[in-house]
Amino acid sequence: MACPIVIVGAGQAAASFISRHVALASPQPVLLVGEESHPPYQRPPLSKKYLLGQLELERLFIRPLKWYSEQNIGLRFDTRVDSIQPDHHQLQTANGETIEYDKLLLCTGSSARQLPASMGGSLDGVFTLRSIADIDRMAPEFQSGRKLLIVGGGYIGLEAAAIARQLGLEVTLLEMAERILQRVAAAATSDYFRALHREHGVQIHESARLTRLLGKNGKLYGAELASGEVIDADLVLVGIGGNANIELAQAAGLDCENGIRVNQVCQTSNPDIYAAGDCSCFERNNQTIRLESVQNAADQGDLVARHLAGEDVHYTALPWFWSDQYDCKLQIVGLNHGHNHSVIRPGANDSSRSVWYYRDEELLAIDAMNEPKSYAFGRKIIEAGINPAPQQVADPATDLKALALGR
Ligand SMILES: Cc1cc2nc3c(=O)[nH]c(=O)nc-3n(C[C@H](O)[C@H](O)[C@H](O)COP(=O)(O)OP(=O)(O)OC[C@H]3O[C@@H](n4cnc5c(N)ncnc54)[C@H](O)[C@@H]3O)c2cc1C
Repeated sequence: MACPIVIVGAGQAAASFISRHVALASPQPVLLVGEESHPPYQRPPLSKKYLLGQLELERLFIRPLKWYSEQNIGLRFDTRVDSIQPDHHQLQTANGETIEYDKLLLCTGSSARQLPASMGGSLDGVFTLRSIADIDRMAPEFQSGRKLLIVGGGYIGLEAAAIARQLGLEVTLLEMAERILQRVAAAATSDYFRALHREHGVQIHESARLTRLLGKNGKLYGAELASGEVIDADLVLVGIGGNANIELAQAAGLDCENGIRVNQVCQTSNPDIYAAGDCSCFERNNQTIRLESVQNAADQGDLVARHLAGEDVHYTALPWFWSDQYDCKLQIVGLNHGHNHSVIRPGANDSSRSVWYYRDEELLAIDAMNEPKSYAFGRKIIEAGINPAPQQVADPATDLKALALGR
């Protein structure tokens, strides 16, 4: 058998690569090696409907398990890859197997940051949310009346807070920065989500630094803040961001920063090794960026398959992202990195609006809350390189469709 394309990490990027590889009828055999027990699955529902108990396990799977064997895709689940020897085109699994590859695709994703044990991170009752296994551990604890403390006011923490409220838990959320979503959004977006969660009964503490979690006999019972305040908690969800899984690539000598560095075709510093999804970082507008989104993982995986099939492709996709909290659908298009001002466009009612981000006159990105039209037309406006004046955008009478058509 010809040496295969080997993929390490059975997630979103891997599934996207395989779908395109199959659609193009590319002849090279593919072997998918993943450390989890499941075929590639969607992670977004984990902090949404799946945590709520409204989605069956199989509905998470991007393709049913049998589809892979029907397409002759080799599968190794429950198999962690421990090392790569690029000079020999081979890798080693944790169970001692050596696998040879022709081309290697690293789709190792990212891991949830943990609180150190010295801060109580290993107490019974402390969770992170990244995988089906995490939900299996956590979901039985999400019972009405229990006190949940969420550490970190990013999208995953806020989504989990919304689900926990729907399940009847008492929820307190701690954010160390001055405001929730500070790292990723303008104050106007933070204000919107703070108000939304408070309306639903979430206690939000901003500029609140956790000193340590408190436990007795290994079991969590609360948290102590730098202010000296003690908060009671039956369970804690740590949502303080993620780190790219780059250890394998680093040990193999590949160029890495906060991700595995790739070029416009997702090739690493070794021409026979590619990386896609959360684990990769790349250059865009003179900045090195790393994205944790379905869009990025799916588009990069797809691109590698096209590139290996001989297509002349380059990664230029416009980033987009979404989040669901209560009845709010947030849709984001573009990247707001480097913005120096933003403007709010009012929506049809109190629960809808959009925030438009600018660097000087250049429109960079849009956060649209219950505003599918702002998202859809805004997306076209950004794609067309049109830079409407902020006053135009802020005026609800401005016809976005006309703007998108350049009128
Ligand atoms: C709770 C949650 C909610 C999210 N919500 C949204 C959302 O609303 N919108 C959005 O756009 N994005 C969302 N995301 C982000 C999105 O799911 C990720 O960006 C996407 O899954 C990344 O795909 P990936 O293929 O890079 O990595 P993953 O899908 O994470 O897959 C990586 C796989 O590699 C495996 N692996 C790692 N190292 C090894 C090794 N050495 N050997 C074998 N296997 C290995 C991992 O165990 C994992 O199974 C969410 C993520 C989470 C966790």
